[in-house]
Amino acid sequence: MARIEVGILGATGMVGQQFIALLAKHPWFKVSWLGASQRSEGKAYRDATAWRLPAALPDDVAKLVVETAAPGNAPKIVFSGLDSSVAGEIEAAFANAGHLVISNSKNYRQDTTVPLMIPEINADHLKLLDCQQAARGWKGRIVTNPNCSVIALTMALAPLRQFGLQTVMVTTMQAISGAGYPGVASWDILGNVIPFIDGEEEKFQPEIQKILGRVVNGAIDPHPVVVSASTTRVPVHDGHTVSTAVKLEQQATPEALVDAFNGFRGRPQELKLPSAPPQPLVYLTERNRPQPALDVNRDGGMTVSVGRLRRCPVLDYKFIALGHNTIRGAAGAAILNAELMREEGML
Ligand code: NAP
Repeated sequence: MARIEVGILGATGMVGQQFIALLAKHPWFKVSWLGASQRSEGKAYRDATAWRLPAALPDDVAKLVVETAAPGNAPKIVFSGLDSSVAGEIEAAFANAGHLVISNSKNYRQDTTVPLMIPEINADHLKLLDCQQAARGWKGRIVTNPNCSVIALTMALAPLRQFGLQTVMVTTMQAISGAGYPGVASWDILGNVIPFIDGEEEKFQPEIQKILGRVVNGAIDPHPVVVSASTTRVPVHDGHTVSTAVKLEQQATPEALVDAFNGFRGRPQELKLPSAPPQPLVYLTERNRPQPALDVNRDGGMTVSVGRLRRCPVLDYKFIALGHNTIRGAAGAAILNAELMREEGML
């Protein structure tokens, strides 16, 4: 079977590189087009970017010449890792020109006709696309991924809905790769914790409510969970850790919660999508796990690890979750969306 050609917007960035690494041997998709800013335009990819990943830069992609981030030569399907300061305009231009844009940027996440996807949780939210073209006047479509910490957290919260998820308090410890490259200055982050990430905390409640919401009459009925978030940047390469406490409507034993984490499955597992981890949430029983240095790459970085479940004297339970921010939190998540759309006959 011929592989489907895809393009990458923001190909030279942290997320763009992760797309290239993950798609290098993908059975269905092949990277044939790269777009970035005027700084990179016209250069061979290997000269346009400082490759930061342990996986080798594939030769065929290294030779591609980076193009301006405008529709024209790009293939029908485009993954986006664009800086959010420019993603709004550029992604709309691609959608307007008939492309399917699968985006990691924040710009369209709260648009009422744009799905905010974690396919294990809300594969049915792709139904929103039925109204998107009419509402927006685009010939193409935009599908988005949630914020990288929100993805790890919401995957751990989704199986708790059966117990009546009411309230969430979360403090994140976010890796430096989450700030792009070169990201935070070494002088600022070494031996330090930065207790502020601009614009981050505000994303948690609306994104989680939308992801966990239900489609009713073509629109999302948001989940009523109340979320309070504090976000910090820590000197870790990859992996966002979230320390979480939850209040539940129903009494539940710790064993029931652990079973719910370990038993969590969704449409990607049902369809056996190429990037779907067999067990998307894994509860680790060791009392000092999960740790970014040990657990972030589980199942190619697509599995979220959970641990340290214990009673909380303020809410009901507390636990720690960890997800790979540029894989499950960005490029891997977007590729999983594309795989889902292919299998659902939407490409
Ligand atoms: P990054 O390393 O700073 O990369 C940004 C990319 O945007 C680069 O390819 C850059 O191209 C391109 N760009 C910047 N200005 C442009 C312009 N005027 N026209 C066209 N392209 C332009 O950032 P990142 O960490 O990969 O993040 C990319 C997006 O994903 C952001 O919206 C971010 O919020 C989101 N995200 C990031 C993570 C993460 O863990 N890093 C996780 C989830 C979501 P040049 O190299 O040519 O400047």
